[in-house]
Amino acid sequence: MKIYITADMEGVAVLCHDVQVDQKGLDYPRARELMTEEVQAAIDGARSGGADEILVCDAHDTGRNLLVEHLDPDVEVIQGNPYDLGMMSGISRDFDACFQIGYHSMRHTHAGVLGHTYTYDVAELRLNGVAVGESGLSAAIAGHFGVPVILVSGDAHAVRQAKSLIKNLVGVPTKEGVGLYGVRTLTPARARELIRKGAKEALENIEEIPPYTLKKPVLMEVEWTRPLMAEYTAHIPLVRRKDIKSVSYKASDMIDAFHVFDVMMKVAVMAKEEGPL
Ligand SMILES: [Zn+2]
Repeated sequence: MKIYITADMEGVAVLCHDVQVDQKGLDYPRARELMTEEVQAAIDGARSGGADEILVCDAHDTGRNLLVEHLDPDVEVIQGNPYDLGMMSGISRDFDACFQIGYHSMRHTHAGVLGHTYTYDVAELRLNGVAVGESGLSAAIAGHFGVPVILVSGDAHAVRQAKSLIKNLVGVPTKEGVGLYGVRTLTPARARELIRKGAKEALENIEEIPPYTLKKPVLMEVEWTRPLMAEYTAHIPLVRRKDIKSVSYKASDMIDAFHVFDVMMKVAVMAKEEGPL
């Protein structure tokens, strides 16, 4: 059985601030250790559930976070930037299931610690009318390849948001936001134990968990935090201005949607550099 693991950092137990998850932050060295250990726990759980091949995508920020030398020697890891499919680089029809580890909630989630969707420029992303964060977006990309997301670990809101999209998903909340920069968290040891158990349980129930597959064409709507971002991104071919801060794009499938979203985010950065509007 082949398992694909996409690993983020903001949803790892304990972490609650940029000083931890930003590579230049003082507490980052500890944060990457905590992230690595949660991924290793997911690998252990996958092995006990019958996985024989595992690919891990280092999906946070620069993609250079996991201490690969501390992982099970028999996994492979995708690291670095840029990717073909962002947080889902390397996914294909060859995989039987996907785990999301260390995932966080979407932007504008009450007490959704460090919540965002790829960047803090995105106020809301909707796919076929449904608001999704990174978890939903990654699940839809996996779904394009017929691969179900069967386990999500991270903050309680990320798990709740994933469960609202995917039936029978195994969720492992490792902390709960008590503010956008505050958490009530499990200890790393307990979080890892629950991730190990959750991974095994998810693989035992793999037949009950469907892929998150979207109807094509996929209507993608992006609400930005600033009007100028909508003004600039609306100039991308086939992207339409919806309202003062929003644009939409009718994508042929999820891969097309993600590639245009990726370009949009880069154009939004140019808008931010232009001025404060
Ligand atoms: Zn993230």
